[in-house]
Amino acid sequence: MAAAADPGGPKVGAVCLIVLGMAGSGKTSFVQRLTGHLHTKGSPPYVINLDPAVHEFPIPANIDIRDTVNYREVMKQYGLGPNGGIVTSLNLFATRFDQVMKFIEKRQQDCQYVVIDTPGQIEVFTWSASGTIITEALASTFSTVIVYVMDTSRSTNPVTFMSNMLYACSILYKTRLPFIVVMNKVDIVDHGFAVEWMTDFETFQDALNQETTYASNLTRSMSLVLDEFYSNLRVVGVSAVEGIGMHEFLQQVTEAAAEYESDYRPHYEKMQQHLAAKEVKKREDQLEQLRKDMGDIAMDSSPIPANSDAEHEVDPGPSGLILTRGIADEEDEEVDSDTDDLDYQKVEEQSEEPAFQRYLEQRKLRNLPVAKE
Ligand code: GDP
Ligand code: MG
Repeated sequence: MAAAADPGGPKVGAVCLIVLGMAGSGKTSFVQRLTGHLHTKGSPPYVINLDPAVHEFPIPANIDIRDTVNYREVMKQYGLGPNGGIVTSLNLFATRFDQVMKFIEKRQQDCQYVVIDTPGQIEVFTWSASGTIITEALASTFSTVIVYVMDTSRSTNPVTFMSNMLYACSILYKTRLPFIVVMNKVDIVDHGFAVEWMTDFETFQDALNQETTYASNLTRSMSLVLDEFYSNLRVVGVSAVEGIGMHEFLQQVTEAAAEYESDYRPHYEKMQQHLAAKEVKKREDQLEQLRKDMGDIAMDSSPIPANSDAEHEVDPGPSGLILTRGIADEEDEEVDSDTDDLDYQKVEEQSEEPAFQRYLEQRKLRNLPVAKE
């Protein structure tokens, strides 16, 4: 595990903290606590809420997805359930993320940190096109760090712990960004056991030996694989509720941001200059596709509202700026919405990787059932 660096905050530009974690791990509580802590240090962060379905965002956000996308309206108009509604809302928002980038760029002189809360369900962000677009947009401009929040009190079983770590590992390798594991809820159980499991292989094996399920065999093999992952990991125990660990967390952020500057920025720059003409084109195509999939959204008429003076003027509820297909004020959308002709099957297939698309096409050609059936 990496050692903590000097406190004092990063020196150049804003650091974006993308806060990820399983539902209920305490992301929003952590964002709230961190924001409070930074306020008392005289360094208020720029706060962005990307969870369209959160009932109450506990602090004033500078940018709130709910001001732009009305998640319930999206569900209604696209005929979706709650999860689909969240994914689609995030897609709609991602198509306009360039505006958000401009807001952050403008404010990065005054704000040392940009803190981004994400939807409750982690996979909505980490494994969606919109999550990738947003992450890459941020990471190509700002020092960007992934903050993986986990519920320590629910990870005391070695198999559960391992699953959580595997998930974290998959995100690390997907985003290729500096990574901090925030072991939250240390007011319930100290995270010492988890740190021990990560640093001392024998202790973890002992814990596993108490388990006799098949999962424990799998976990035993996986833990060998994770060794390398652990060695690159920063871990900090916090309690969002009690405010423990914030100082140490910021030390870790300083170090992670430095790592971004030394290891990641050159990579991103190189990627953009040489290798990546293709990659950039792919991203642009992906964004274009997303826009097409979303239909004729009234994009230009409703710029994303930024609450520049968040303390005074934020109304965290959804505003009138509803980013749907432009019929929000019709009384009877349910009966004959103009979204009914949207081909969802097509939308889903188009968002798959090319290899999988080819697989689907081939199956279709041969009249074989695809995975769904
Ligand atoms: P999210 O879904 O990841 O955003 O999680 P929330 O921030 O909404 O928190 C989920 C639940 O965990 C809430 O009931 C919080 O009060 C609780 N919670 C969050 N952080 C802590 C903590 O540090 N300690 C304890 N005991 N509970 C916490
Ligand atoms: Mg939340």
